[in-house]
Amino acid sequence: MRVGLDAHVTGRTIAAVEVLHPRAIRRHLPGASDFSARLAGRVVSGVRRRGKYLWLELSEELALIAHLGMSGQLLVQPEGAPDEKHLRVRFRFTDDGPELRFVDQRTFGGFLVDELVPVEEALLPAAVSHIGRDPMDPAFSLPAAVTALRRKRTELKRALLDQTLVSGIGNIYADEALWRARLHWTRPTDRLSAVKAREVLTAATEVMRAALGQGGTSFDALYVNVNGQSGYFDRSLAVYGQEGLPCGRCGTAIRREPFMNRSSFFCPRCQRRAA
Ligand SMILES: [Zn+2]
Repeated sequence: MRVGLDAHVTGRTIAAVEVLHPRAIRRHLPGASDFSARLAGRVVSGVRRRGKYLWLELSEELALIAHLGMSGQLLVQPEGAPDEKHLRVRFRFTDDGPELRFVDQRTFGGFLVDELVPVEEALLPAAVSHIGRDPMDPAFSLPAAVTALRRKRTELKRALLDQTLVSGIGNIYADEALWRARLHWTRPTDRLSAVKAREVLTAATEVMRAALGQGGTSFDALYVNVNGQSGYFDRSLAVYGQEGLPCGRCGTAIRREPFMNRSSFFCPRCQRRAA
């Protein structure tokens, strides 16, 4: 998504913003007219990502953070293309080129204008300043992440999902990484060897890299879609959503357990619960 957006909006100047549904900017507390006024005339200097957070970097140290929620899509559409049924926000540019549109059926997603603040040699929106680097970040330190992970006193999967330590790992990636490293999701982090900690973080990186590689293929069209990585979900998952199917390593049926209103999928033979 970041790569697709970068190609279409970086270097362009926002002319006007039209908020078609107030819910899409509910995180921007000063409201719709403030939202539009703060964005008009700004130059998009880049599109950045940290973990699951995506933002447009704007002139004068402002950021437009995009939350896509479960169903949000950012589309690049020619001016005059018919409005989508669930169009929530429209961004027009001064060059009269393609518009950026936010379409969201359920409107769980939306935007927020935020200040950029310096955090450890990076410039981050204030709302994102507590989020750790993701393993794809050139400045990510694996040894530091291993140390921080083993210093925690929690269950391994909770620690992997805690975005302050390592970012970008969601429920699906966590289950896949735990299966690759042969670790049960309830393993206490303070009883994890440095070798196993490194293994599970490296596995998470591999899973994310594979997903990003697959997602990249759908960005050549003038259509930037949050679901671009769905091909990966269909074909490459070892455990997530595979309940009852044989483990690709040992043939044991994959099991599902409830986890924080969601599920954990694992192989009961390869990933034994710590005694
Ligand atoms: Zn197995």
